[in-house]
Amino acid sequence: MSELAERLAAVRTGISDAATAAGRSPEELTTIVVTKFHPASLVRELFELGVRDVGENRHQEAQAKAAELAEPELRWHFVGQLQSKKARQVRAYASVIHSIDRTALVDVLRSEETSVDCFVQLNLTDDPGRGGVAPAELEPLVEHVLATPGLRLLGLMAVAPLDEPARPAFARVRELSERVQRLAPEAGALSMGMSHDYADAIAEGATHLRIGTAITGNRPDRG
Ligand SMILES: *Cc1c(COP(=O)(O)O)cnc(C)c1O
Repeated sequence: MSELAERLAAVRTGISDAATAAGRSPEELTTIVVTKFHPASLVRELFELGVRDVGENRHQEAQAKAAELAEPELRWHFVGQLQSKKARQVRAYASVIHSIDRTALVDVLRSEETSVDCFVQLNLTDDPGRGGVAPAELEPLVEHVLATPGLRLLGLMAVAPLDEPARPAFARVRELSERVQRLAPEAGALSMGMSHDYADAIAEGATHLRIGTAITGNRPDRG
């Protein structure tokens, strides 16, 4: 087995163990392998190992890889901060956009023709530069998404803050998700959990895990 296959298998086991410990079924979970900074050849290897969901956080890199791989079964998840002027291009290849965080972005993604799945990203820190909407602004943004054709809201996305334990942060996301579901009962998905905190995220109800280095190995130098 290649090292990549071994790491993938180890993470799949870790996910399944965490799900069982939380009284959940691993089938409820979608694992997105975050391949940012890695070449398209690594995405190809992952695809051959059965991976169908991959995540990227920079538009140019994601667009180039999506063009190179062009596998209809491969779903590209955009997980990074998204500039409004790039948003329509991202929509062209992404199956899911995880980083909806402001009304201006929603407006440029409006479409009468096609629909893209999305998450509203929550900012769990006090730093507005981190991406995500502040909890106080959550409901108006969700209402805006729901009123905009061309976007299907799946739920909430969040990154645990660096300076506090992940589990209570994920518990806050789960609580805020109840407010979202009052507006959109079907939008109960939770995109949370990365290489180091996915077990905590699973315990707090994550449905979409975004896992990079634990599977891909260390990222190449960003140059
Ligand atoms: C890079 C990234 C991940 C994966 O992080 P790892 O710690 O490598 O698992 C998940 N989510 C987002 C938004 C990312 O940018």
